[in-house]
Amino acid sequence: MKTEDARYTRLLGSLGPSVVLESHMPADRYLSDWTGDHRGQALAILRPGSVEEVCKTVSLCADMELPIVPQGGNTGLVSGAVTTSSEFAVVSLERLNRIRRVSRDDFSITVDSGCVLQAVKDAAEDSGCIYPMALGAQGTCQIGGTIATNAGGVNVLRYGMTRDLVLGLEVVLPNGVIWDGLSNLRKDNRGYDLKQLFLGSEGTLGVVTGACLKLFPKPDRVETAYLGLQSFEDAMELFSRARYACSDLLTGFEVIGSECIGMARYAYPDLPVPISENTPVHVLFEVSSGALTNLREMLESFLAEEMASGSVVEAVLAENKAQALSFWKVREGLVEGHARKGFHVRSDVSVALSDVPRLIGALRGMLTRRFPGWMPQAYGHAGDGNVHFNALPPDGLDEDRCRAIGQQIEHAIFEVVEDLGGSFSAEHGIGRTKQDRFRTSMSGPHRHLIEALKHTLDPAGLMNPGCMVG
Ligand SMILES: Cc1cc2nc3c(=O)[nH]c(=O)nc-3n(C[C@H](O)[C@H](O)[C@H](O)COP(=O)(O)OP(=O)(O)OC[C@H]3O[C@@H](n4cnc5c(N)ncnc54)[C@H](O)[C@@H]3O)c2cc1C
Repeated sequence: MKTEDARYTRLLGSLGPSVVLESHMPADRYLSDWTGDHRGQALAILRPGSVEEVCKTVSLCADMELPIVPQGGNTGLVSGAVTTSSEFAVVSLERLNRIRRVSRDDFSITVDSGCVLQAVKDAAEDSGCIYPMALGAQGTCQIGGTIATNAGGVNVLRYGMTRDLVLGLEVVLPNGVIWDGLSNLRKDNRGYDLKQLFLGSEGTLGVVTGACLKLFPKPDRVETAYLGLQSFEDAMELFSRARYACSDLLTGFEVIGSECIGMARYAYPDLPVPISENTPVHVLFEVSSGALTNLREMLESFLAEEMASGSVVEAVLAENKAQALSFWKVREGLVEGHARKGFHVRSDVSVALSDVPRLIGALRGMLTRRFPGWMPQAYGHAGDGNVHFNALPPDGLDEDRCRAIGQQIEHAIFEVVEDLGGSFSAEHGIGRTKQDRFRTSMSGPHRHLIEALKHTLDPAGLMNPGCMVG
């Protein structure tokens, strides 16, 4: 923070110490993100506690031509919320955290954008409903962050991405004016659907301050199975049959290559893994429904057929919620294990469902051939065609060398994905780490539309410069 700067003094004078973080308060957590890959700097850290304070903060920054970086829980994986310049101000939404209204009858919840996702899920459950967005960072990430990144997670298969879960938004525009689109209507075809502009906009078009979100009835029954299969081909064929057999009751279908299990154990040494660790592909399979469906019977009969045909070689059904949670812990643990390992190549790519096995085969082949010693890690939301293909560096390689080779690996991953007509960013967005790829991958007309949109909403270019488009 530049407390001696005249702009800092003006911010403090106008907004007061409840909004402007003062020099004696710890600032570290606002300046680096979950990945720890980048350490930022900022002229000031601003923490408005009401929508009016957000308006005042954004107008004042606009007046001072001070660029701002909106910040939620700082769990984004592409450094979108980390400042790169001491000439920017961080606008943290952490104090804007009220649940405004829960309506069981409308199946909706209206919240401040700084609410932590878990708090929104808890409030929904208290009313007998669910807000189905679920991801590893849910105890820290904020609703505004999930909106600005159009987050996905493990329930997209059944409920869609954040884009599908938002009924209305309230946004403070770059000039400090509020756009009130906080509708709870499910059908509204009065012209352009403006809220969608802000979903996935990564803080480049405005500051989201409030959201009305869709709720769903809380399933009375949830059944979770942990399966072992011989290949990703078998896994995707199983997925296809499961969708036809179980219809929309299928809520989760996560695949984990057996090479990742060691990483889950690295994070949680005592973690029970329900099947043989060396079975090539582990699948987390979840179905859910209301009370009238005999879900257990349906799942048992589906899996009995699959085991008889040899497609599923091992299957364990959770006997209770605690056991189901311990199954999911394997999935969470491997992400945690990667993080604890330190620098590694992370990717978040998608292809058509039928191309998932080909994608994983091609990526593993590429890594072994071109980057010997790097360890492939393939897992992901395969039911959405979304694969995380990570690569762990060989032991003993120094960090600078790791990062240099890591960039080459990332480039090679993107080439494989694009050859299959896929996306190099399925969930995490562009941020500051995928900007170059974004720029070069756009067609002329696509780039023109994106730039026109950015210029129309943020003509002075003050919203999150250096992120995605700037
Ligand atoms: C362990 C772990 C697991 C994860 N799993 C998944 C997953 O399964 N699926 C998935 O999609 N993502 C996943 N993520 C990443 C995901 O993007 C974030 O968890 C979440 O969506 C970001 O929310 P946040 O509040 O932390 O945002 P931040 O990291 O603070 O910000 C992210 C971006 O949003 C912008 N932003 C934040 N708040 C606002 C606001 N109020 N108004 C305007 N712009 C704003 C920021 O400027 C930045 O560009 C995971 C992350 C971790 C650490």
